[in-house]
Parts: sequence; structure tokens; C-alpha cells
Amino acid sequence: MRAVDLIRKKRDSGEHSQEEIEYLISAYTRDEIPDYQMAAWLMAAWIRGLSRDELAALTEAMLHSGEVVDHSYLAAKKVDKHSTGGVGDKTSLILAPIVAAGGLAVPMISGRGLGHTGGTLDKLEAIPGFNTSLTLAEFKRVLRKCGMALIGQTAEIAPADKKIYALRDATSTVENIGLICASIMSKKLAEGIDALVLDVKTGSGAFMRKEEDSAALAEVMADTAKRMGKKCVALITDMGQPLGRFAGHSNEVIESIQILKGQGAADLRDLSFELSAWMFFLGERTKTVDEGRALAAEMVTSGKALEKFRDCIRTQGGNPRVIDDSSLLPAARSHVEVKSPSSGYVCDINCLNLGVALARLGGGREKKDQNVDHAVGLEFHKRIGDPIKTGETLVTIAYNADGQLQTAQKMIAASYIIGDKRPAARPLIRRIIGC
Ligand code: URA
Repeated sequence: MRAVDLIRKKRDSGEHSQEEIEYLISAYTRDEIPDYQMAAWLMAAWIRGLSRDELAALTEAMLHSGEVVDHSYLAAKKVDKHSTGGVGDKTSLILAPIVAAGGLAVPMISGRGLGHTGGTLDKLEAIPGFNTSLTLAEFKRVLRKCGMALIGQTAEIAPADKKIYALRDATSTVENIGLICASIMSKKLAEGIDALVLDVKTGSGAFMRKEEDSAALAEVMADTAKRMGKKCVALITDMGQPLGRFAGHSNEVIESIQILKGQGAADLRDLSFELSAWMFFLGERTKTVDEGRALAAEMVTSGKALEKFRDCIRTQGGNPRVIDDSSLLPAARSHVEVKSPSSGYVCDINCLNLGVALARLGGGREKKDQNVDHAVGLEFHKRIGDPIKTGETLVTIAYNADGQLQTAQKMIAASYIIGDKRPAARPLIRRIIGC
């Protein structure tokens, strides 16, 4: 087989066989196909699209470019959740302990934040000592002990995706549902899971803003997982405003612990319980999603989920005392409030710009290798539909450096649309796909 023939075939709208896709991915991973040919194929695939069979073959080939973790030493079913990300989305820190406390295993391999979205690894690393760079052997040890383990991508997991993603980034071939699906699903399925719950965000702070686009991505991902013998469901959820009351790394650890203590914001609790419920159901721990919801609530009220999180933090080298004493987390030197310029109701929020403002203050990264300031954060005082008076606080900014402060303040103030009419309530969970 030759790469040039495969590029021509895709350019001319042909459909690849499984063998052709396997060759393309394995030869590229072994450096036998150069970047320029892979880039040409990616652009052809971006323009011509991939059939469902091609997509399943691509996902499978990328998945098998590295190790598929074997957790057969565990009796429990292995389940995970993947979110397409947004502002204040910290549900991984909440649902992993809930689901592990409920008896399933959660082998979670997560990413870092980029642009306006936060990443689970960065949040965990706000906890002093917490080590997310475990080897696969250590990952298994933690999983066996705690029923959950939270780590970053390792060199063994889907190496084809690492190479291809870097090329997509540089050739404007990221925004394609098929390529996104293969990229995400190859990494998630390499975790060795039995079932996966997808949280596909929609709205102003989401990767896919329009509900139809989010639904299309969700449908393709759920179908691909099922073709590969995994149970999968996708929830389309609202990211038209931040999830919960806080964004920023220390802030989000504190808010996650609040939820595990039975306190905290209703939207964050509801979504965390809903995602946990589906994990319990797909992992065959409960017979129905309703039972899963009740089990999630029980894990919180009994304190078992909180103790599970404490145990995981300790086992991964972090200071477990953060559970009882949030002052052990990095704290910002200064705070400033952004006030409302008018009275009325919060009619809309530009959630993307809230995330960008946080990143500008150092709480996120614009390039992959940038460091983040874990102490920087935002507290959101108003949600869509809330009444507000002139001069009332919209957002409290926690910051360390003031170089970008004015820009951030302006962006945050401009992100809130205040009007006279209370807008209709927006459901947090829009659709469930694949059940
Ligand atoms: N996240 C990924 O891991 N891959 C993509 O292609 C897009 C988002």
C-alpha cells in the first residue's frame, strides 16, 4: 500500500477499507509516512468526510497504536466520563469518588486546559503534592487500592493521536466531527473501560456552540463506542453559562469538595449526580438510572464519596488535609469585584469570554506548554434569569498579577447581558443520545 494512493482515494471521495486505514495509522505512527502526506490525507478527510465504518476503523487503529490498558485484575466494571469541556466544569473531581464509592472502578485519563476551557489535571495539581504523572503500573496500583485513579496521558496510550493531533493543530484540520470523535474515543477506550458516559456541552462556552452540532458529535461518538463493543450514552448539557459558582483551579477543587460534603451549587450537584447515575447504570451497578441517582446521593450523604476522594488524594501523593482545610490550596493575593452597570435581569452570558478572561489572568493557557496559576479564579454571583441591581456584584476576581486585570474586568463586565425581561429558564440537560 502507498500513502499517495490513499490520499488520492479520499480526495476523490472514495471509501477506505479497514486495512487501508490500519496501514495509514500504523505506518504514520512508525514514522514510515511523512507529516506532509498525513496532512494531505487529513485535509482530504476533513473535506470529504468519513463514513461510520471508516470512523470505527480509524478509532480502532488509533486505539491500537498503543497499549489498551488491561484491568482484568479488577472484578468491578470499569466506567469513565468524558466531557467536551467548558467554564467551571469540574464534574470529574466529584463523580469519580461518587462512582468509586458506589463500587465501580473509574480509570480516568484526563487532559489539561487549553484556551477558555479548564482541564482536570490542572485542577488536581492545585492540590499540593498531587501527582498526575503516574506510570501505567502506578495507575493500576492506585485503581486497585482506591477504585479510582486520575492521571494524564501517558506515552503508551494512543500515540497515533498525539502525533496526528499536533498535525491537525498546525493544518487547520481540528474542527471535524469524525476526526474529533476518533481522537477522543481512541484515548478514552485505551483506558480499558466497559462503559463511557459523554458530557457533550452546548452553548456560548462550549467547543460546539450550536445544539445541533453538539448532538451530531454526540451521536457519532456514541455510535463509534457501541460499534467497538462498549456501552455508551451522551448527555447534551448546557454551557451557556459557567457550571457551578466558581472557575479557576483552587476554586474548583474547593467547590468539588463542597458538593461531596452535600453543599454547593444546585446545577453542579444535579449534573454530577446525573452523570454518576448513568455511570452506575451503564456499569450495571444499578438496574435503572433513577436507582443510580439515588445511589449517587447516598454516596454523598453517607460521606463515603468524600472519604474516597481523600483516600485517592493521599494515594496519589497529595495532601489529604485540603478536604478539611481549603487554606492549604494556593490562594490569590488580591480580589476585585466586577459590578453590574444596570438593573434588570441577567438575560445572557458570554461564557467563552469569561473563560478567556480567566486565562488572561493566568488561570488558563493559550499555548500547550504554558504554566497556569492555580490561585487565580472567578466567583460568579449571578446566573441567567437572576434579578440584579446597578452596582451589585456580578463576579469576584481572585488574581495575583495585575498586568491583564483591566482587560479581564472589561471582558467580564461585557459578558453579562442585562435586560428588562426575565428570560425563560434553560434546562441543564438538553438531550440524551444513545440510550
Ligand atoms: N479533544 C481531543 O482530544 N481531540 C480533538 O480532536 C478535539 C478535542
